[in-house]
Amino acid sequence: MSKPAEINLTPDILVVGGGNAALTAALCAREAGRYVSVLEAAPKPYRGGNSRHTRNFRCMHRGPLGVLTGSYGEDEYFDDLLKVTKGDTDPALAKLAIAASERAYCWMEAHGVRFQPSLSGTLSLSRTNAFFLGGGKALVNAYYAQAEDAGIDLHYNAHVDHLSVSDTRITEVTARLDEVAYRFTPGAVIVASGGFQADTNWLARAWGPAAKNFLIRGTPYNRGVVLKDLLDQGMESVGDPTQCHAVAIDGRAPKFDGGIVTRLDCVPFSVVVNRDAERFYDEGEDIWPKRYAIWGRLVAAQPDQVAYVIIDATSRELFMPSVFPPVEADTIEGLGQQLGLPGAKLRQTIDAFNAACRPGTFHATELDGLATEGLTPPKTNWARPIIEPPFYGYSLRPGVTFTYLGLKVDETARVTGAGGRMDNLWAAGEIMAGSILGQGYLAGFGMTIGTVFGQIAGEEAAAHV
Ligand SMILES: Cc1cc2nc3c(=O)[nH]c(=O)nc-3n(C[C@H](O)[C@H](O)[C@H](O)COP(=O)(O)OP(=O)(O)OC[C@H]3O[C@@H](n4cnc5c(N)ncnc54)[C@H](O)[C@@H]3O)c2cc1C
Repeated sequence: MSKPAEINLTPDILVVGGGNAALTAALCAREAGRYVSVLEAAPKPYRGGNSRHTRNFRCMHRGPLGVLTGSYGEDEYFDDLLKVTKGDTDPALAKLAIAASERAYCWMEAHGVRFQPSLSGTLSLSRTNAFFLGGGKALVNAYYAQAEDAGIDLHYNAHVDHLSVSDTRITEVTARLDEVAYRFTPGAVIVASGGFQADTNWLARAWGPAAKNFLIRGTPYNRGVVLKDLLDQGMESVGDPTQCHAVAIDGRAPKFDGGIVTRLDCVPFSVVVNRDAERFYDEGEDIWPKRYAIWGRLVAAQPDQVAYVIIDATSRELFMPSVFPPVEADTIEGLGQQLGLPGAKLRQTIDAFNAACRPGTFHATELDGLATEGLTPPKTNWARPIIEPPFYGYSLRPGVTFTYLGLKVDETARVTGAGGRMDNLWAAGEIMAGSILGQGYLAGFGMTIGTVFGQIAGEEAAAHV
């Protein structure tokens, strides 16, 4: 099957988006014999949304499965989910995603995804999460290659602006392809266009002007245009519009698309200060990356939404190397100067911290109880004086991973509209993930939701037209 030369304005199924959920849905619908068009807002080199930044997906399995060791049962998976969402989850949809994740592994392999065993630093996930060989970029490339071979009509630079809702039907989809406007009248529509985190004006409505200083870890194309358009036309929403998942990343990361490499793992071995060179939280609260996610919010709450991590020579080799080298100086004052911090105040903060450290045994990989005494806030583990030059520093900024607001779907991935279940509209991936993940995050679950609901949406839409 070859790619149609002309733009088909009346495909059986129109898929909005070009990441994991969209491509999975498109492939499933095509395999069911339907004519499918995919509209991806990004230009070809940047195709694949946030999915191309991913590393793994979380998978249920009753016994060893491919690269996954041991077993990871449905109940344990569900319990893990409840712990992070604190119960803010739809149990039926969550259990559906979990149960189907086992089948998803095989489907992904059959569609060109190659897995690899966990490497050092991620061994704790070797039972629960299957890592993509070549990362999410290789995954989306494999799906695009399959989509081309299958005769799916792929369009890049294709921005969907509006879906016309009439009662319970989508009657028309308006899009710009290379800035030329087109009107599509497909039989069914699957929206898989992610969240709205790349629209910092929208983030600012929840976070105030502070949001302008947030960095976006993923694609600049997930601006929530389709989500807003559908919510404005009465589609039911799920998820807290004021919440986003944010982590602390290297402050020198680009505004968009910094991806996974901009994370910094040195916080537990450091002293973290704000712009005024004051500490504000227990850096040693728990093993990294367990506390990784809370630091985004902590930094967001500081003046100018910035913080600084300070370590000394003794900790330099204890964490994953950073993509950008740290700022380095032989004195604390010199480091403060290079980081733009008040040097005398930084000296005072570090001296107070050092004076509160107590002798004891340091263990980099476990909670060692090496805590400060009489310091506010305390550092409850890995508290060793910062005295060994050279001294190193990094700036930290909040890096937004995703937003929670989405479309409400049912177990067939069908969107719920003002007049009840929509007749020809399905949603998959981040745009409906709030239906399952009301708060918190379970590593690898985003790709599970996208794959499972992408499959469901593709199959259901194909059966409908
Ligand atoms: C740095 C980083 C690392 C991550 N690591 C992991 C991980 O290891 N495992 C995991 O499970 N999750 C991870 N996540 C979360 C994961 O990326 C998402 O859950 C997942 O990619 C969502 O898939 P999706 O297909 O719904 O959205 P995306 O992959 O983001 O795709 C959305 C697509 O819609 C397109 N689009 C947007 N608006 C329009 C429009 N108006 N018209 C046309 N197209 C449009 C975009 O260009 C994009 O192609 C990570 C996220 C980030 C940022």
